[in-house]
Amino acid sequence: MDILTETLRNQLLDRKQRLNRFAPTAGDENLLSLLRQVDAALERLDEGSFGICEVCKGSIEAERLLANPLVRTCLEDLDTQEQQALERDLDLLAQVQQKLLPPRLQQFDGWEVCFDYKPFRVASGDYCDVIPGGDAINVLLGDVSGKGVAASMLVANLHGLFRTLLPDGCNLAASLARANRIFSESTIASHYATLLAMRADTEGGVVIANAGHCIPYLMTSGKLVPLSSTSLPLGVFADAKFQVSEFELKPGDALFAYTDGLSEARNALDEEYGSARLQEWLKTACGLPPEDLVKGCLADLEGFRSSTGLADDLSVLLLKRR
Ligand SMILES: [Zn+2]
Repeated sequence: MDILTETLRNQLLDRKQRLNRFAPTAGDENLLSLLRQVDAALERLDEGSFGICEVCKGSIEAERLLANPLVRTCLEDLDTQEQQALERDLDLLAQVQQKLLPPRLQQFDGWEVCFDYKPFRVASGDYCDVIPGGDAINVLLGDVSGKGVAASMLVANLHGLFRTLLPDGCNLAASLARANRIFSESTIASHYATLLAMRADTEGGVVIANAGHCIPYLMTSGKLVPLSSTSLPLGVFADAKFQVSEFELKPGDALFAYTDGLSEARNALDEEYGSARLQEWLKTACGLPPEDLVKGCLADLEGFRSSTGLADDLSVLLLKRR
């Protein structure tokens, strides 16, 4: 017997035991019906028809069976009622994710942060947060590998982690190392997250750590400076260390960050938007207020993509010293 089947059989036997404890005495029709469904699933396991879709006779998705061993059809053959329930769940997931995002435009002591965030599907694997801590603000932009529901769950995990670790104002590199250790232990091996963490203080000082994320740009006196030093993404090695760089931003200077949904976007000719085009555009936009710069950047991307839709989650962020 393979491991999946064995796991599922144990799950089902465990459910049966628990149901048996309550259902017969409670006389509850719902519980009794569940008990019958569990028995039927165990029978399907015994006769070898478990995991086969009852409509198309194809295989049922393994991750759905693990989440609920009682399912009897593949995703494509869900009946309308089940499909509606799934859609409601996804809507709720998207709402929860929206609630975790900070306001799109915020002002702090001497700083302005503006971002835009577009999920590719219902839920996004991009992570964005703005967390005040001591006399500084922490601005975070990241990208969890993969897309969709699993990636969005890891994004929620990052929100919780950094909202717990950062506000006490301790050293950024140490906070990242701690977050990385916890994230590594709670993440499946195939998943990791790139992250750009910036801590800006009231005097104009900025500390930046880049964990494998797209290179941000410093916009200063009409010039564009790529900030290229980076460490490993979160979730790759539990013991990883994180380098930080420190800068001083003058009033009017800004830091521009984005996810690869911007730089790797493609048009109908299969050309990449790319960092060269991004840099050209940013040079023309240095003087713009943050909101106009973020909007303008997305408009330039849209002009480039033309009729081609998004293929990835997309986020763009500007941190500007006032
Ligand atoms: Zn099917």
